[in-house]
Amino acid sequence: MSGVISTLRTQYPLGLLKNVVFTLWLLRYTTKAYRHLIGRGLIGSVKDIHAAVTRWAWGLLLKLPSSRKKIEAEIAGAKEQLEMKLVNYPQTLRRFETLPSSGLSENEVREELQALLSFSSKPWSEIQSGQVSGAVYHGGSDLSTLTSEAYSLFSLSNPLHPDIFPAVRKMEAEIVSMVLRLFNAPDGAGGAMTSGGTESILMAVKGAREMARVERRVREPEMIVPRTGHAAFDKAGHYFGVKVWHVDVDPITYKVNIADVRRLINPNTILLVGSAPNFPHGIIDDIAALSDLAVRYEIPLHVDCCLGSFIVPFLERAGFASEPFDFRLRGVTSISCDTHKYGFAPKGTSTILYRSHHLRQYQYFVSTDWPGGVYASPSIAGSRPGALLAGCWAAMVRVGEEGYLESCKEIVGAAKGVEAGLMEIDGIQIIGKPLVSVVAFTSTDLNIYEIGDELSKRGWHLNALQSPPALHIACTRLTVPVVDKLVQDVRDAVQALNEEGREKGSEGSMMALYGSGVTEMPDKSVVRRLATVFVDTLYKA
Ligand SMILES: *Cc1c(COP(=O)(O)O)cnc(C)c1O
Repeated sequence: MSGVISTLRTQYPLGLLKNVVFTLWLLRYTTKAYRHLIGRGLIGSVKDIHAAVTRWAWGLLLKLPSSRKKIEAEIAGAKEQLEMKLVNYPQTLRRFETLPSSGLSENEVREELQALLSFSSKPWSEIQSGQVSGAVYHGGSDLSTLTSEAYSLFSLSNPLHPDIFPAVRKMEAEIVSMVLRLFNAPDGAGGAMTSGGTESILMAVKGAREMARVERRVREPEMIVPRTGHAAFDKAGHYFGVKVWHVDVDPITYKVNIADVRRLINPNTILLVGSAPNFPHGIIDDIAALSDLAVRYEIPLHVDCCLGSFIVPFLERAGFASEPFDFRLRGVTSISCDTHKYGFAPKGTSTILYRSHHLRQYQYFVSTDWPGGVYASPSIAGSRPGALLAGCWAAMVRVGEEGYLESCKEIVGAAKGVEAGLMEIDGIQIIGKPLVSVVAFTSTDLNIYEIGDELSKRGWHLNALQSPPALHIACTRLTVPVVDKLVQDVRDAVQALNEEGREKGSEGSMMALYGSGVTEMPDKSVVRRLATVFVDTLYKA
């Protein structure tokens, strides 16, 4: 008898606990499913389920021994090709897989550096010819010399120690202040410098996540990003455990669908995102409408001006069409702006701006108990290169407002020239209505990647885009003199392909990756493996 009672006693609370846990579990998943249904709508949800099932089926198919063998062979082949292409240098270059036992003489190092400089599959002269899309944001060779001087003067400095390097602190604070003004930041705004656009975006997401955690107790953060938003937002989601909802763009304007963004907002939403402009197509999202949503639902809005950097703020004054994008819109809470793009500062510099100091604090990291001392730092890095800040500061104060206005006129003028020229070509369509420096184009009747390969033969290095297949050029100052050549070369490429007939298989590099269909497969594991092999190859000595 007493045995039965004690069993009952222990079983009853356990049973209750089980029920509670089950109910909570059920509640959690029903809430998730419900939010998905509301966020994506019925058709969207069915599409999402269909895509998930297709991916799963493909995954199974690819795991079959026969397909696995084929995939392994393909990947091994790709690896070999990549190594041949990337780790292929003249035997005259000395190799250093271990430290030289005694150091080289200064002159030997100089000679080796010269040899390295002249070894390049794309000679520097070709890169400077303006035929390479967006790779070099050049402010002129005099400016490069000046920023290098600034760099070497401050090569030992580290902003982590402002007491030892007060000048670097001053320059950094001034850079942030100058960029804040450019974006019409209100009183009380603040910002920070980072190592690049990616870190600026990481910080914006981390800050928004932290603020939602502390002020709204959000434990399963989500953010809503246009499908055309930079991959750095996915990186941020990956690093900081924030779920990323991608929202499609309108098929005509290529701006993010505002109604779809609104539907996805729920109590877990920590951040809305818009680009001004985005990387793939150079299109500015409807930031004003996003700002209205941000105000209405009291959610932060980040505007990615990494690429727009020192061009979008000057569009209006340069006499070009523009759209509202900055802190003048009440809902905009943070902006990322790359000084190392159209600011012509050395690579490795960017800024992240916040509407208020309060918002900025959430990006900081503070450790109070470390035996090394109380440790506080604004961004990801600990020690940072003061030299880069000095180079950035020098570039900005040298170019000045008039200089950037002039460069905006030149660069956007070049982009307009490209757009107008390409529009005239039969079979070529411009994507959306680009207002800034990037022009993306595609073709309804030819394979756009084959056009890309034809252009490569003519010395161009444009960016290949996917979903939908397209090419783009990010105009820089170097593009200005070669606009007509680009238009003519696209025309020639189209004509050449039309004459050859379309069946022709191409061995070009764009076709090899994008034309093979591997990027269109619903299961991305093969693409992921190939990309990983690529990164591995970068570290092969
Ligand atoms: C370049 C760019 C970024 C950030 O890139 P980084 O290479 O990290 O500087 C972010 N967004 C857009 C739209 C960009 O073009």
